[in-house]
Amino acid sequence: MPEYKTQNSNQEEGAYPYHAHIEPTTLCNLKCRSCNNEGLASQRRGHLTPANLRKLIEGNRFLTDVSLIGLGESLLNPEIAGMALYLKEEGIRARTCTNGMNLHKIDLEKLLGGIDELVISFDANEKSLFQRLRRGADFEKIVKNIKMAVEIKRAGNLSVTLSFQTVISKENIDTLAYIPPFARELGMDKMRFSAAVQYNPDYKSASINEDYRKIRKRIQSVQAPLRDDKLEIRLRDQLKSICGKNGLEFSFSGSSPRFRECWWPGKGIFITYDGFVTPCCMRMDPTVFNFGNLFENPFDEIKRGELFKSFMDSFKNNLCPDICKECP
Ligand code: SF4
Repeated sequence: MPEYKTQNSNQEEGAYPYHAHIEPTTLCNLKCRSCNNEGLASQRRGHLTPANLRKLIEGNRFLTDVSLIGLGESLLNPEIAGMALYLKEEGIRARTCTNGMNLHKIDLEKLLGGIDELVISFDANEKSLFQRLRRGADFEKIVKNIKMAVEIKRAGNLSVTLSFQTVISKENIDTLAYIPPFARELGMDKMRFSAAVQYNPDYKSASINEDYRKIRKRIQSVQAPLRDDKLEIRLRDQLKSICGKNGLEFSFSGSSPRFRECWWPGKGIFITYDGFVTPCCMRMDPTVFNFGNLFENPFDEIKRGELFKSFMDSFKNNLCPDICKECP
């Protein structure tokens, strides 16, 4: 096991951020109905490079854990396995997320040896529903790839956690209970459920382009009515119990407003593949909102900027910043 850095290793004032989501790519090979990747402008398409990851890590020495996750399909970045390994060598816990389509095309042994958690998006255990929600996906290929990942983990006795991430929508809400037993059968370790969310608010509406408006409507049309009738609490408890019976770890991210219990400010940041800092993984498009760019200014300088200070002051004063309205 590697020697990981911990938050306690940093006793200094302002030892922050200790967590970052760093975007490996904005390219994607699917068009999932609950995602707003399609709304990204064409000039915002690109990969994180290993040299830039190194710059980000060297410039943010308090980081203890990093999620190589952003608006695109992480495994389309050809350097993803090497970047995971690099983070491990730096004593940083790393996680990444994939739609599973390309697991057979990369050096999976290297990736699973470097990463602490591999999260695989998996919204249904029935082929036609799965492929309707995740447009362009090949259910059979993904299941085969998952089996391969489980085999590699077992053969190498690796400590990596293999998780399913299930986005809860109107269309799969009645079938969610079938996923944990299927996950157990495949050899997965954990289920992560999360409500379908709007990744971009109607923030300064002029800056939201027509594509985003269409995507906002599409996401609204698939969102399950979780805020009604305590449905969300019942659903969470039911899924937790099913996961427990199937020996799976469980997490649930619901639809209640995040602002009051948000953990990001003062702890974590989102960094785009080209260095822009945004508040969190719910607000990933820097053309809508960003605090500055880490390839131009260090985080200490960005923190002193007016925009960042007013964002943090809002949280301190229990006022919801505009960019956090409609979250999730
Ligand atoms: S949008 Fe604001 S409230 Fe929501 S997760 Fe991000 S920082 Fe927190």
